[in-house]
Amino acid sequence: MATPRKDPATTPPPEPGPKFFREILGHDWVVSHLKSAMLAGRLAHAYLFLGPGGVGKAATARALAAALNCTQPGADGDACGTCPSCRRMQAGAHPDFLVISPIESKVQISIDQIRELRRLTEYPPLGGGWRVVVIKPAEALSVQNDAAANALLKTLEEPPPQHLLVLTARGEADLLPTIVSRCHKLAFAPLPSALIIQELENRRSLPRSQAALVAALSGGSLGRALALDPEELVRQRDQVLSDLAHLNRGSTGLVLEWAQRLAKNRADLENFLLLAQLWYRDLLLSHFQAPAGLLAHQDLMSLLEQARAGGAPATWFASFAALGTAQRHLQANLNPELTLDILGLRLQHQGNPHEPR
Ligand SMILES: [Zn+2]
Repeated sequence: MATPRKDPATTPPPEPGPKFFREILGHDWVVSHLKSAMLAGRLAHAYLFLGPGGVGKAATARALAAALNCTQPGADGDACGTCPSCRRMQAGAHPDFLVISPIESKVQISIDQIRELRRLTEYPPLGGGWRVVVIKPAEALSVQNDAAANALLKTLEEPPPQHLLVLTARGEADLLPTIVSRCHKLAFAPLPSALIIQELENRRSLPRSQAALVAALSGGSLGRALALDPEELVRQRDQVLSDLAHLNRGSTGLVLEWAQRLAKNRADLENFLLLAQLWYRDLLLSHFQAPAGLLAHQDLMSLLEQARAGGAPATWFASFAALGTAQRHLQANLNPELTLDILGLRLQHQGNPHEPR
């Protein structure tokens, strides 16, 4: 039997994620700013896209590259999606769109990568349009990585014609001021919960209750939301609610035992704090008659109602605050077990505010 011949003209499967401005979720202001700068011929030579991971910074850079290189752009400046340049962009194979990231397990972008970029920028873009280079994340050119950062600085100072650099970063704090000052900054906000819920329902066919839970823990990052395992999250959430119920009823010995157990695993510990905060947030939201659509515990409405009837807003505020304090103490590298001992005792006390101690 003859093996089917591989057709050299077959286009590779399209890259996941948005390719064009019209597909970017949220960030309306950033997109309209870039489109009008592009149409007016007033794009900066280098942009710094600031915002949390997974909200669409690199996708927006890709949409900008697609629009700049499209041969039949629409009246609003967005790429057509069908010309040869757009098809290459969709296939993730456009020769003039480059993403420079740390190689393999490295944390930093190497000086060699930047030298290679500088050599490449000596030549005009292959397609005759614009070469768009994304440096992702710009933190990989940190203060400890002076050589690579300084080499890039030369490109930022005298950008070659028809070249555009886009640096992405969570914030400015870890970037060299000399790099920041040479870029036009654009801020990407966390995506609204409602938008993430909608995407999870559409792309992952998640039931509303799971989508709401995942969205609430995603920190406004669609990338993070898509990476979370909803069933595992529900399991963890149920464990957290069971822990909270035990803490409220249990002895001091039980609190200390709980703290010792949870302190052993940093990821479990961080999830506990987030999920427990979510529970108290929902108790407060439902107490103050927020629309049920905003709640992350939509599959547990009767439990929520039961807890609401047996508690008081002041204690939920206090429990929420105690969880936030524990988060800050852990971020400041205080002893996790000690932090949890105190947190457990505070939660226990809030659960039984009228009991003598
Ligand atoms: Zn096109």
